[in-house]
Amino acid sequence: MTVHLVGAGPGDAGLMTARALELIARADVILFDRLIPDGALDGARDDALLIDVGKVGGGAQVPQEATNTLLLEHGRAGREVVRLKGGDPFVFGRGGEEAQLLRGAGIDFSVVPGVTAGVAAPAYAGIPVTQRAMAAAVAFVTGHEDPGKDETQVDWPALAAFPGTLVFYMGVRKLDRIASLLVAGGRRSTEPVAIIQRGTFADQRTVSATLGDIAQRAAEAGVRAPAITVVGPVAGLHEELAWFGSGPLAGRSVVVTRARAQASALAQRLRALGGRVVEAPAIRIEALDAQLPDLHDIDLLCVTSPNGAHRLLEIARDARALAGPAIAAIGPGTADALRAGGIEADIVPPRAVAESLVEALAGIELRRALIARAEVARDVLPGALRARGVAVEILALYRTVAERLDDEARDAARDADYVTFTSASAVRFYLEAAGTPADAQRIVSIGPVTSDALREHGLEPQIEAQQHTPEGLVAALLADVAPGQLF
Ligand code: SAH
Repeated sequence: MTVHLVGAGPGDAGLMTARALELIARADVILFDRLIPDGALDGARDDALLIDVGKVGGGAQVPQEATNTLLLEHGRAGREVVRLKGGDPFVFGRGGEEAQLLRGAGIDFSVVPGVTAGVAAPAYAGIPVTQRAMAAAVAFVTGHEDPGKDETQVDWPALAAFPGTLVFYMGVRKLDRIASLLVAGGRRSTEPVAIIQRGTFADQRTVSATLGDIAQRAAEAGVRAPAITVVGPVAGLHEELAWFGSGPLAGRSVVVTRARAQASALAQRLRALGGRVVEAPAIRIEALDAQLPDLHDIDLLCVTSPNGAHRLLEIARDARALAGPAIAAIGPGTADALRAGGIEADIVPPRAVAESLVEALAGIELRRALIARAEVARDVLPGALRARGVAVEILALYRTVAERLDDEARDAARDADYVTFTSASAVRFYLEAAGTPADAQRIVSIGPVTSDALREHGLEPQIEAQQHTPEGLVAALLADVAPGQLF
């Protein structure tokens, strides 16, 4: 068992290494920092212990000593520990100090390098940190020194004389001092500078200036941490080579209210289109203890949601246990989930709502049906089947429960441009957790059932998906952003 010092990259989840994902999936304990990509822990085991050492209660940083104590405690207990850090663990990440601590205590460790912000943020802004004939060297510099130190650690005259690109981590509030020390050391005040805020995140932005006016420009633009400052001729290439953030959803923020376990596919799709995703999972899926009834007498098994399909496959344990009845699935997501378990649904109605399945079953002779679904659900399907004399049994497989939103998620959700709802239960729990969306926010509904739930709360969705699937929801959102355009 080992402690792994793992880099999570600068923010875009796609820049996490294969090794990082593998170790996260295996870990017993994960100690993580604040600056890690959204969804970085999605692949962690359900029973893994996840400890936020980036902040306490939304406030101050956990002191390094407390993190050290946790590292030693879990390391000594022989657990598989991942210490997950933003960017690269050995670049301004205190990874070296933690490695020394572990070595001193005789605990095995490994280091997984990550994509560091000082290279990635410029790259996403179209700035190569080295470039033939422009910069033959690059220096990574801290712009913010240990506040405990009086004396400056950085040799400013030497840095000013450095023959290449200077990349500053931290210190966006000290730009004034940095720029004047560099100019005092002999750099031209016309030298290009670029600041990249939240590099590789969907809301990345870049401010370009020169050493002479960067402090003022950054202040005007309200630049805040985390940001990387690039000094040198290569910074001027931003105008020519900028490429990131040009998707159709660039500049738009979208709230995803699905349960965390299901949110990632939708979130990824929105991010791939350039949108900034605010994950506000107001609901959580709780599995119910259930026994698979004897199916030999049942002629139709209806599965009404992907959650239902997952849980059904879980309790069946073997696809052959579901042999016998015809199988109907509401929605392509449900059919996909069954397919992943080796079952091809016989009936998938054209629209992903119970009404559509009722229509599809109209001409089919049935005696007994089993409906595998959530504990609380609409009566449309059982009601319609019973009305035509079919004996209906319900197999309740899971329930949807409220999930608390932290203040940060709630504030971000209230500021977003779009709020998406993918189920009626998400509507109720989201409104409880985050309140009513503001007038300026556009409400996107996956389909008529969810829209009705919104109306029950006095809200009218501006957008309703034609296909009642996550893909359909994204298509409807895109049509709203850029009407008439095909994506
Ligand atoms: N180990 C990290 C750096 C940690 S120091 C790495 O290798 O990237 C924290 C500083 O990193 C921040 O103050 C900021 O200067 C920089 N930083 C981290 N993530 C960033 C991002 N997404 N965009 C811009 N700067 C970032």
